[in-house]
Amino acid sequence: MPQTEDILRAAKLIREGKLVAFPTETVYGLGANALDAEAVARIFELKERPSFDPLIVHIANPGDLNVLGKHPDPRCFLLAEKFWPGPLTMVVPKSDIVPDIVTSGLETVGIRMPANETALELIRAAACPIAAPSANKFGLLSPTTAQHVKKQLPGVDCILDGGPTGIGIESTVISLNHKGFEILRHGFITREDIEKYIPFYAMPAAEKTNIVSPGMLKSHYSPGKPIYIQGDYVPEDLQREKAALLSFSGNDSQGFAMVYRLTSSGDLREYAVKLFSALHQLEDEDIEAIVAEPVPMHGIGIAIMDKLKKAAHRYRNDD
Ligand code: AMP
Ligand code: MG
Repeated sequence: MPQTEDILRAAKLIREGKLVAFPTETVYGLGANALDAEAVARIFELKERPSFDPLIVHIANPGDLNVLGKHPDPRCFLLAEKFWPGPLTMVVPKSDIVPDIVTSGLETVGIRMPANETALELIRAAACPIAAPSANKFGLLSPTTAQHVKKQLPGVDCILDGGPTGIGIESTVISLNHKGFEILRHGFITREDIEKYIPFYAMPAAEKTNIVSPGMLKSHYSPGKPIYIQGDYVPEDLQREKAALLSFSGNDSQGFAMVYRLTSSGDLREYAVKLFSALHQLEDEDIEAIVAEPVPMHGIGIAIMDKLKKAAHRYRNDD
């Protein structure tokens, strides 16, 4: 775990407009002072992230919702009380102090308070909100260890090594509307979790104004090898002896060069936690393809399938 002096040094770098990679409970983030547009621009540069993809701003005190957001909906504070610190990002109208580059020009900003002590200490010590996307090159796997960050982003000014992150799957991104909440990006916290407090209400397209969430890009999260989803598309000539199977049920695994069973008890959260590290390992294995068995589409299974489909999208032969 990083010592206090490491965190203070990193916080000083943030104040100076530098980039610091740090652990959160989901994945490692690549952080910059969210109020410093130039520092934030360096994030886009280093990640090679398209500028239409807004960043999430991390805070250490729920009250900062009022500073970064313009008159945030009171229901946000209820959700903050229930889910923060934790992997829930709320998109709210932005206040004028948030530079446009953070939100890719949107009038809204995504805010969350991470459940990781190193992250919270860093934000407090820097005394500014920290804009941080996942610390990977755009479109590649999100990092769950400091080593993953080093491999993909050797140019980062500082990496706080807090060991492997617990969850591995990103935060759930939601926004509120007049009738309830909607999900802009599926993540660790499920629709059912949030529905305990606020109704789910997906606004019909006709009522929508500018809520476009780039987390919905079809192709994303590539593990660097072709990945196929059983029942969706697997090439007819796939050779199992040169492929790995990401198995959920443990069935139909004969002939594969390797089988990753991410949960032996059907626990979707366990599967989610292990998915990214499995994909990272498979990146380095001597295999030609990855075949994933679909997981049940409920709870966090929706976010898992969302990630698998994005990873597999470019290898489908339909477009
Ligand atoms: P990442 O930082 O890589 O975890 O991804 C950030 C994601 O959060 C974006 O790709 C969007 O899906 C979502 N997001 C952040 N800010 C906004 C916003 N203002 N409006 C809608 N979605 C947002
Ligand atoms: Mg990302």
